[in-house]
Amino acid sequence: MWPFIIILILAVLAFFFPLDAFRRRRIWGIPRERFDERDVMFARIARQPGTPEYEDYYTRRPVLKDLDDKLRAMPPLLNPGGLYYDERIIADANQWFNNIEKLSVDVSEAATWATYIDEARDKTNAVKHLVRSLGAVAVGVTALEQGFVYTFKGRFDEEYGNPISLDHLNIIVFLVEMDYDAMHQAPRSEVLRESAKQYYRAAKISKIVEAILQRAGYKAKAHFDAHYDLILPPLAVAAGLGELGRNNILVADRFGSRVRIGAVTTDLEMKFDVRAYLGVKEFCEICKKCAENCPSGALKTGEPSDIRGVEKWPTRVGQCYRFWRIAGTDCGVCMAICPFSHRNNWFHNTIRQCIRLNPWIRRIALKGDDLIYGRKWKISGINPNQLSKQ
Ligand code: SF4
Ligand code: SF4
Repeated sequence: MWPFIIILILAVLAFFFPLDAFRRRRIWGIPRERFDERDVMFARIARQPGTPEYEDYYTRRPVLKDLDDKLRAMPPLLNPGGLYYDERIIADANQWFNNIEKLSVDVSEAATWATYIDEARDKTNAVKHLVRSLGAVAVGVTALEQGFVYTFKGRFDEEYGNPISLDHLNIIVFLVEMDYDAMHQAPRSEVLRESAKQYYRAAKISKIVEAILQRAGYKAKAHFDAHYDLILPPLAVAAGLGELGRNNILVADRFGSRVRIGAVTTDLEMKFDVRAYLGVKEFCEICKKCAENCPSGALKTGEPSDIRGVEKWPTRVGQCYRFWRIAGTDCGVCMAICPFSHRNNWFHNTIRQCIRLNPWIRRIALKGDDLIYGRKWKISGINPNQLSKQ
């Protein structure tokens, strides 16, 4: 009897052996050169024929002109014509996006928090407490690595081509959660409404933190939807908030890819967080659910590659965006299907913890996920393969 019990105990211990605890923290690299915001998909599509900005952009990037003109000719997002257009839901989404542009902060209300930060002995904790109390589910701090700062503005004609210079030393990066049930409607318009709502929340938090830090005497700049001076996902990784997944989106602890990122850059000196190890890369190597279910075929099932000095999985952004215009929403299938994106509860958090330990737990976790949630995303009534051929 005793030998059997001892073997059983050893087997259980071996199963939970934290083999990966000895792995070095992953280094994703820093881009060899800075990226021009004018080359971001949304900036490209914002160019309107007949404007000087359009002429300038496609004179410098002639190879993109045909593709972008075809995309521009498709039904625009937030307008009738998309497969999943729902007038009432899209009206809500439009309202949230419009509210972002109208956001303003009453600086007098920032005074109490500014005093709190000014007097705090541990300013990092004080800032994190502030950001969490405003509704963020996670917050981290890291150095502002210049390689992730865009070279030129590109989103709006008024600022097109303006050089970006950001001399702040540090960046506060935070996450807001996207609702689980709304995300499980992907790629219907509920997802776009939820995206808009959380972009608004992230914008509001970053604007308030910006105002409070400025009131406390520091340089600060909010970065939020359509108003980014930098590429946020890798900075969120550096701030210890998660890892980049095969879906090329941040995969965060407890929420997976169901998050939106906001940030404030500042010259306030703070302690930096360390990168998190969640076992995402190892899990992505065997999972591949996002790539297999991407309705546009934009994600790859192969190995990560070196993209401008950063090791990551490639995304065909043109194909992804084309599907957005077909669907009339921002899709979100690759966010919702990710096993890391399940609900934030004790059951899934225990599995998330175990996934970090070793390869055999990851294989069992993936089998369990396939069994419970299935390997195929159900897009009601529509065959995604037909969609991608439209
Ligand atoms: S088409 Fe959808 S699933 Fe594919 S990469 Fe884009 S958002 Fe993700
Ligand atoms: S769905 Fe799977 S492969 Fe894709 S990001 Fe999530 S864990 Fe990685």
